[in-house]
Amino acid sequence: MLEKVVIANRGEIALRILRACRELGIRTVAVHSQVDRDLMHVRLADEAVCIGPNPSAQSYLNVPSIISAAEITDAVAIHPGYGFLAENANFAEQVEKSGFVFIGPTPDVIRLMGDKVRAKDAMKAAGVPTVPGSDGPLPEDSDEILAMARAVGYPVIIKAAAGGGGRGMRVVHSEAALLNSVFVTRNEAQAAFGDGTVYLEKYLENPRHVEIQVLCDGKGNAIHLGDRDCSLQRRHQKVLEEAPAPGIPDAIKRAVAESCVHACRQIGYRGAGTFEFLYENGQFFFIEMNTRVQVEHPVTEAITGIDIVREQLLIASGQPLSIRQEDVHFRGHAFECRINAEDPRTFAPCPGKVNRFHAPGGNGVRVDSHLYSGYTVPPYYDSLIGKVITWADDRHAALARMRNALDEIVVDGIRTNIPLHQQLVRDEAFLRGGVNIHYLEKKLQT
Ligand code: ADP
Repeated sequence: MLEKVVIANRGEIALRILRACRELGIRTVAVHSQVDRDLMHVRLADEAVCIGPNPSAQSYLNVPSIISAAEITDAVAIHPGYGFLAENANFAEQVEKSGFVFIGPTPDVIRLMGDKVRAKDAMKAAGVPTVPGSDGPLPEDSDEILAMARAVGYPVIIKAAAGGGGRGMRVVHSEAALLNSVFVTRNEAQAAFGDGTVYLEKYLENPRHVEIQVLCDGKGNAIHLGDRDCSLQRRHQKVLEEAPAPGIPDAIKRAVAESCVHACRQIGYRGAGTFEFLYENGQFFFIEMNTRVQVEHPVTEAITGIDIVREQLLIASGQPLSIRQEDVHFRGHAFECRINAEDPRTFAPCPGKVNRFHAPGGNGVRVDSHLYSGYTVPPYYDSLIGKVITWADDRHAALARMRNALDEIVVDGIRTNIPLHQQLVRDEAFLRGGVNIHYLEKKLQT
């Protein structure tokens, strides 16, 4: 087992990782920026190292500082959490070159999945369903581009191979706008990511976002933990997630999940990962793979009883996967509300002091949050301050628990999006299940 792990993250996920380490008897090192010395997990960790000033570029993205922290504390491994350096292949490589275990896939696999054109190719080759499109980067020749778009059919979407976080994409509705859009997207991609490679795919107009969780040991053993629906999004950011995705026939889900497991074996995947799909008219279309733990992993934990972060740690320690596919049983339904420090109407970030925090409780209620009464949410980072997860035997009951939990929670002193969640868990279309990725934005406009 890993003896000591550096937690290269902050907030709720750092606390989540710390808890899993402690359950396994692993010692922990919290690395933090100056303002973050008061974080809950920093207080609880065996050791803490300040790695720099508040801006993430100088702390949580500061590779030499993080590796030095591992060196001076005699740690053996680094857990990147999500965001920050979690999907940075160069960081993973530096970690390994410095003699530490990177808790995640190999740098090569992270690099492969970070290039959307190569990732899509690899998935197609492994039998994972992908969005029809250019099958590789767009050529220079205008006539060829026009022919490709015509073959796919409008609307199409131009995407940067190196894009991420919802950036570097442009929807094109007619041939007249195509070449100019390709030109602009190429230039933007070159400026933003240092790589002007773009590709084209069919633009799906009303899809849902459904994703598959996998676990692999890098030794040929791979399983899936079913699906999650994350269609409630604002500006490509997930707001409220659930597992399983409602209203999709089991046979369709099983087939796509099995194709993901097959792909993991093909590419030599190691660790926890998520295959993201758009789902429309009974069909799944791969869009990208996230090579890390996801914010919404608890809904999968709730319906499978499997601790995903614990499995990440066991895999990183070199153990073969102890769970077989036939051991994975799905039970009940779970929801997760992401609680953000932001204005519920304007969505402007609202950092500041939390005078009073009261977490909801009861059967089937889980709260992952680093908040405590008196904690000050700093203005420098993501506004996520916690997640409320509820579970019950069926979707209806899990939602009833969420309504209770949201009515119980108290975050005094700052504004949060709790009122938005309270509305969403009473929204008729959402209660029916299966809304598409545009639903929330449209609702917010009315
Ligand atoms: P990123 O890495 O920037 O998150 P993705 O490829 O995951 O990029 O796409 C982000 C979002 O863009 C998707 O969740 C979806 O809302 C939209 N999108 C991407 N590709 C398509 C497509 N072919 N059709 C419709 N929407 C798409």
